[in-house]
Amino acid sequence: MRIILLGPPGSGKGTQSQRLMQREHIPQISTGDLLRAAVASGSELGRKAKAAMEGGRLVEDALVLGMIRERLREDDARAGFILDGFPRNLTQAQALERLLKTLRQPLDAVVQLEVDNAELVRRISGRRTCADCGRVFNVSTSKAELSESEPCSTTGLPHRLIQRPDDNEATVAERLRVYEEKTRPLIEFYRERGLLQTIDAEGEVAEVTERLERALHALPRVAAPPRRAAKSRKPRRAAARRLPKRAPAAKRKRAARVVRATAATRVARAAAGRVRGGQRRTRRRGSARRGRR
Ligand code: AMP
Repeated sequence: MRIILLGPPGSGKGTQSQRLMQREHIPQISTGDLLRAAVASGSELGRKAKAAMEGGRLVEDALVLGMIRERLREDDARAGFILDGFPRNLTQAQALERLLKTLRQPLDAVVQLEVDNAELVRRISGRRTCADCGRVFNVSTSKAELSESEPCSTTGLPHRLIQRPDDNEATVAERLRVYEEKTRPLIEFYRERGLLQTIDAEGEVAEVTERLERALHALPRVAAPPRRAAKSRKPRRAAARRLPKRAPAAKRKRAARVVRATAATRVARAAAGRVRGGQRRTRRRGSARRGRR
């Protein structure tokens, strides 16, 4: 399954991707996570991306596209993927379309997560991420005990919850503006391609997952190309056996000439053999007579 989760910051793309990843056994590919990892590692890519991320703006297309090209070519993405936070504008969507065509991995669906703006702000301000495993929790929507109920999958210790630096009020306002201006047009882009599904992404996390799963399982599965029926193979084999009859007239005549020539040679040889044989038999008989005398 190859899908895109499309929605503004705080619509639950990350949370739903993680749940879907576990159910469908396909990787979640989040450009936000990849960029944050690049910033944390201090790589050149991270240094270039940092300022845009801190200001709530989009990172340069060339950097994001280079990163996504590499990631989609990795082995685990062959089974499918969930794109979270990518594409974010038309240039990226068109580049993705070309890349997936080259990789022969067409998208199955683009699911738009719809959430009211006031709810988005509430969710973003309560969002906390585990610094070690990256799992997302929300202190304003889910119970605090949830993060304490199970240990971090990376350290085995309790989760170390941190607030993302760009989840502050001023940056959130800019991120929502950027979404409206650059990302929202993708809804039409994918609708035109018949790939768009929209779900209500408000309510309990599990309920939204249910809606998402229902939308995905309602998709027409791409049918595997039918195996060639035995029926269509048989006549070919039969035809192969009948080939001499079907051979062109000239070929049949040539074959008949060879048969006649071979038969004539055999007759001639047999006749010669009879003569020679007769002589030999005569000679042998004669010598036998001489010997008996
Ligand atoms: P996210 O975690 O998806 O909310 O992304 C956090 C930040 O990373 C965004 O506000 C952007 O600055 C940057 N970012 C993530 N994905 C992209 C993308 N596809 N194109 C450009 N910038 C991105």
